[in-house]
This record gives sequence, C-alpha cells and structure tokens, in this order.
Amino acid sequence: MRECGLSEDEVFASLEVRKAEDLAHSSILSSMCTLPHPVAVRAHGLFMETNLGDPGLFPGTAAIERQLIATLGELYHHPGAAGYASSGGTESNIQALRIAKARRPTDRPNVVIPASSHFSFEKACGMLGIAIRTAPLDRDLRVDLDSVQGLIDDQTIGIIGVVGTTEYGMVDPIPDLAVLATEHDLFFHVDAAFGGLVVPFLPDPIPFDFSLQGVSSIAVDPHKMGMSTIPAGCLLVRDQALLDLLNVDTPYLSVKQEYTLGGTRPGAPVAGALAVLEHLGREGFRALVAGCMENTRRLIEGLEALGVERAATPDVNVATFRTSQAPPGWRVSFTRRGDLRCVLMPHVTAEIVERFLVDAEKFYA
Ligand code: PLP
Repeated sequence: MRECGLSEDEVFASLEVRKAEDLAHSSILSSMCTLPHPVAVRAHGLFMETNLGDPGLFPGTAAIERQLIATLGELYHHPGAAGYASSGGTESNIQALRIAKARRPTDRPNVVIPASSHFSFEKACGMLGIAIRTAPLDRDLRVDLDSVQGLIDDQTIGIIGVVGTTEYGMVDPIPDLAVLATEHDLFFHVDAAFGGLVVPFLPDPIPFDFSLQGVSSIAVDPHKMGMSTIPAGCLLVRDQALLDLLNVDTPYLSVKQEYTLGGTRPGAPVAGALAVLEHLGREGFRALVAGCMENTRRLIEGLEALGVERAATPDVNVATFRTSQAPPGWRVSFTRRGDLRCVLMPHVTAEIVERFLVDAEKFYA
C-alpha cells in the first residue's frame, strides 16, 4: 500500500486502464450475466451504503428486500413465500441444502442431483458433508426420473431439479420430481437461477414453481435474466419455518437472529433487482424473453443451415452445437461434453447474432 495517496484523477485514470482490458459485451456469448438495465444501475447508486445484514438500521432497504421476495413469490404462485436476497445461485443452493440437512438429520446424508446440475452443488455438498448421488439425463438432456427414484434411500435428505440448465438450457421434469419428493417426504429444491426469470414469461410456461405441492424452495438470480446489478440472487422457500431452521443468534445487531449465509449484505443490487421487476412488469419481461428466444432460434437455424448440428433443442435461451470450434474473435464456451455453447442474453442483440453468423459462414465453410 502507498504511503501517500494518489489524487482522485490518478486513481480513476489507472482504474480506467484496467476497465479497458475487460471484454466488450458485444463479443460475449458465453455468460449468464448481462449488462444491467439502466434502472438497476440508478437504483444501485441510490443504495450504495446500505447493509441488509443489519436491517434495523436500514428499514427502507429491508422493506425493498421483502417486496422483492413477495413479488417473486407471487410470480411463483405463492405470495406467502419466505426468502431473502443472496449473492447468487451458489449461495442459494448452499442454503437450500443446509435447510434440507437441518430438516432431516441422518447419519450419512445424501442428495440426488441431475448430472446437468451446476457445480455449486459440489461446493455445497463438500462443505456440508452430504454425499452426491448423480442421476443421469435422458436423451433430451433432462434428468431421468426412474434414475432419481432408484437413487433415493433412507439417508436421502433432498432432491434437486434444474430450470434452465447451465450448459444446455433444459428444464427438468419438475412436476414429476415434485410428486416423487412428496411421496418420499423429501426436501425438493428447484435451481431456477437462470430459468426462473425466463420460463414464467414464455408463451406456454413449463410448470416449475410453488403451484406444485412438492416444491420446497426455489433459487432465482436477478443478476442473470433479471438484468440487475451484481450480486443479486434470491432464495425462496415455501414456509418461513424452513428458513428459521438456519437461525443463529446475533446479539449485537439490530435483529437478534439471522438465517442468511452472508453477514454484511449489500442493499444496492437488491434495490436494482426490484427496480427492474417494477419497471418492466410482466409485459416487459415477456417482450425481453421473446427477444432472447427469437435470437436463440435464429442462431440455431442459422448455424444448422451452415451444417453445424444443434446439440439440444433448448427450453430457454441457451444454444449448443456439436462442434469444438468457434469463429475467432467471439467469446463462446464449451460444455463438459465438448459442445459449443452460446447464451443469448439481452445484450446479445439480433444484430450481434447476424454478425456472428456472417463470421460463422466464413469459418465453417
Ligand atoms: N445454478 C445455475 C443453474 C446456474 O446456471 C448458475 C450460474 O450460472 C448457478 C447456479 C450459480 O450462480 P452464481 O454464479 O450466481 O453463484
């Protein structure tokens, strides 16, 4: 650390040099995050100093967090859902498994997760001493129900379903998994970190939420398709009592117990998340999602016309292809199976897709 500080101009000059090293969003087709909506940026700026870890000091910001959870609870057909704003899908998934473990103490807990699950479950299970039982996928890359059923035993504390898998954009058969969970009295966590703000706005939404009796909790990330500033995740649970299983005493704060994983928690992205939901409304989100889905269709059709076969027909805006090569200059990613993967986020406009296809034509010809 310097003995004498720099001037503000000097500090910002060096920060801007670093910022210029970051990639432009116009070439990023690999990310599930996107450029934040301008109303999220404005709201974020207004709440920079707020700390939801000590909500008694920031009752207005705490009310915004409650409104965010209530808005999502209503979207997910359970206005009474409890929950809180997390740092993202990883934290929400960790917390869901903490609840599952607290709800059913066993000697050798295990959890059944789809092979398509996000790697955050590996972190969560490692931390919590939970064995992972991985259920294979069917031909359409959705979790195979019989396999899930076959992996459940008397040490199973929960099962997981994914709404919008990270790699292929598929939605697992959540209604069937919910029935299984009810039959076995299991905690059923739905990881909708990506698809939770896509699927409700599709013309024919696939059922995945609290309207299904067996669904215990849902992870959804406003910092993905919610166009919030980062970090903004949410964990919603069917009953407050489930969250309360995680309570620890916090004697020196303005509230005397907390169930969150983080202590100090930023209010700014939470205000950003709510601002976008309020500003766009269902109508705005339907339009946003329709645009992303249209771009996904166009990319799949365009690359298939060039002889590059799709790897899956996705439920949400993730397009994958059976090729290990991509046109230079574009930031794409590759799945564990080696397929080319593009995420058609809101910053990936129709014009960007067309430019990608022009480069693809030269590259794959
Ligand atoms: N779950 C799913 C389905 C995801 O796609 C991701 C990230 O892409 C996560 C969880 C983890 O989210 P985060 O990186 O915000 O912790």
